[in-house]
Amino acid sequence: MNAAIKAAQSTPPTPSSNVIQVAVPVPLARLFDYDCATVPATGARIQVPFGSRQLVGFCMGPVEPTASAYKRKSVARIIDDERILTEPVWQLLNWAADYYQHPLGEVLAHGLPVFLRQGEAANYQTTQAYRATTAGQQLELNDLRRAKQQQRLLAALRANALLRRDIVAQEFSLSALKALIDKQLIEVFQHQPSTQRDWTFAIGSEPLQLNPEQALAVAAIGAAQRPQTYLLEGVTGSGKTEVYLQAMAEVLRKGKQVLVIVPEIGLTPQTLQRFQKRFAVPIVMLHSALTDRERLDAWLDAKNGAAAIVIGTRSAIFTPFSRLGMIVIDEEHDSSLKQQEGFRYHARDLAVVRGHKEQVPVILGSATPSLESINNVTQQRYAHLQLTQRAGQARPTRHSVVDIKQMPLKAGLSVPLIERMREELARGQQVLVFINRRGFAPALLCHECGWLAQCRRCDAYYTVHQRQQLLQCHHCGDQQRLPAQCHDCGSTQLVGRGVGTEQLEQSLTELFPDYPVLRIDRDSTRKKGSLQQHLADATENKYPLLVGTQMIAKGHHFPHVTLVAMLDIDGALYSADFRAAERLGQLITQVAGRAGRASAPGTVVLQTHHPDHDLLQDLIQNGYAAFARSLLKERELTQLPPFGQLALFRAEAHEAQHAQAALQAIAQHLPTHPEVTVLGPMPAVMERRAGRYRYQLLLQCQQRGLRQQLLQHCLPQLTQLAELRRVRWSLDVDPQDF
Ligand code: ADP
Ligand code: ZN
Ligand code: ZN
Repeated sequence: MNAAIKAAQSTPPTPSSNVIQVAVPVPLARLFDYDCATVPATGARIQVPFGSRQLVGFCMGPVEPTASAYKRKSVARIIDDERILTEPVWQLLNWAADYYQHPLGEVLAHGLPVFLRQGEAANYQTTQAYRATTAGQQLELNDLRRAKQQQRLLAALRANALLRRDIVAQEFSLSALKALIDKQLIEVFQHQPSTQRDWTFAIGSEPLQLNPEQALAVAAIGAAQRPQTYLLEGVTGSGKTEVYLQAMAEVLRKGKQVLVIVPEIGLTPQTLQRFQKRFAVPIVMLHSALTDRERLDAWLDAKNGAAAIVIGTRSAIFTPFSRLGMIVIDEEHDSSLKQQEGFRYHARDLAVVRGHKEQVPVILGSATPSLESINNVTQQRYAHLQLTQRAGQARPTRHSVVDIKQMPLKAGLSVPLIERMREELARGQQVLVFINRRGFAPALLCHECGWLAQCRRCDAYYTVHQRQQLLQCHHCGDQQRLPAQCHDCGSTQLVGRGVGTEQLEQSLTELFPDYPVLRIDRDSTRKKGSLQQHLADATENKYPLLVGTQMIAKGHHFPHVTLVAMLDIDGALYSADFRAAERLGQLITQVAGRAGRASAPGTVVLQTHHPDHDLLQDLIQNGYAAFARSLLKERELTQLPPFGQLALFRAEAHEAQHAQAALQAIAQHLPTHPEVTVLGPMPAVMERRAGRYRYQLLLQCQQRGLRQQLLQHCLPQLTQLAELRRVRWSLDVDPQDF
């Protein structure tokens, strides 16, 4: 590689030298030609001058020189001897750039860890690791009972030395790390990673005895003639994870690697621990708190085969492997699998494509599958595996609906609910109250004149955060001191309207003074390691009352929870978003799934003003599986996904008419076709956000192929439109939320 750099530097660019096409990470849907003395391998990174900058691009191969009006520039540096990505990932990224109509240079860069995007060499460096000292080994662990974080970390380091990245990935606190070093209970050493670390398959703990449905699922995956995609549809607590583990064991046994994608790593510590306990093989976790160096090391471990299992969030779908044997997507319905900005890919959909290209099985697991995946089962594109029973002793949850029309509420809680909670708590059980608003109150209202504190940059109200004495906009992050007086009439009678987690926590403390309350939301878990600690405390029933947001709906089990209450589900029943019903069904089912995990049966109480709403009744009486299938029929009638194919153009600008004009221009340049409907331009649900007006234009096609052709054909012209220069615009293929 050094030879290549020298060659590029010492040979002055000659006009008659070779010409290559380069994919440069810029938002332009084209390749650029450069001169070079030696032609780099296709897929190798090269550094090129671009405007006044130097960028790292990818060589796309030689081309015939064309007579160009301007002088071609020369490649500044060849970084790699060979293609940096493995063939399958290279193919996948090229495919994705085409499918999502996103500039190839940006997509390829997206597939690399930050260090490699910046042109660093794809090599390991020595990294810091930590191990227990003799004093640390001999210490009575109980001596650290007052410092739980230190105790937990020391226990882990006594078992194994850990790299800093593993410590971070397992959500240990870095201040605990420092404290243990200061006490000389642990020490730092230089870990020298080798490029060829081999592993052999070994079981860490014995697998569970499968129930018949689980056994059938594992056998079906193992016995398949050719690899395919499976939808593992299993009610919450039915033992999907056990199915993944046993299906993975077969793959690992053959020395192959497994990629596991989860919605959010910090939220599923129990699942991660089960992977670590079960398999005594190297597991790499691509955690958001990794440093760039750690991320590169993890990437190298996957690429050269040193990692047996890679667990990560959506971007892990681009991890290169030397011997990939299986892909698992847990919670395949989760909307976090879709990237919502820039290169807007869907990790589940790419997993299916990747599995097909690499000929490896893909398992999509969920208690509440997406309508897309259910339809793919109906169309026999995916094999269907079902787990209809809860595993072990757990029994199904019961639903109960409380009609809160004209009922007095105390911090959002109705009297019948409070009574139910009281009974449950008296029996020593745990109660979880779900509310999807953090903060104290969703709005600040003047009691005298009705003024509401509205974000100056968005069409949204500020959320009241009483503890910090702040007004905060949850859409743009804008913050203000909590005002003492109304901005309109000067009254000091300002009150919070509606209920957030902070207020609920406070009210529960007043209502149930004998029972400690734990709140789990983004505000209460900002400190490093605190989420882990909160989840552990909740699991061990240290707090009889739990208050939480969306964060607690994702896969975590609270074995002592027997009553789950959802305070506010009405918004979603009448939402304009065509996916709102599907999302509500998933949320209610997932939150309900937190209850009654152990032997005690669980109940879910839903408070609503619309107890007779069809959707709600369908869900409660027939369960998610039937509910989803009736939603699917509606989608078919309206030709919405998965039956219609959508693409959404978005534009935003400081002037509303600029955003509108841009989309109008796009609409005019789209050809008319009997099978294509163009809707808009229309304002986004939140028309103004962070000071910009947002508009959208929806393209609806019956056939995916037609949509792709149309976009491919029109996009080059569209990008040239003068109206687009005044706005920020984007194209979202298969948009999720709008
Ligand atoms: P899911 O992923 O479907 O929500 P899990 O795999 O987490 O379900 O399983 C739920 C609980 O049931 C876990 O505590 C797990 O240990 C237990 N479990 C799973 N399979 C079995 C089995 N075959 N026998 C006994 N317990 C099981
Ligand atoms: Zn007022
Ligand atoms: Zn705002």
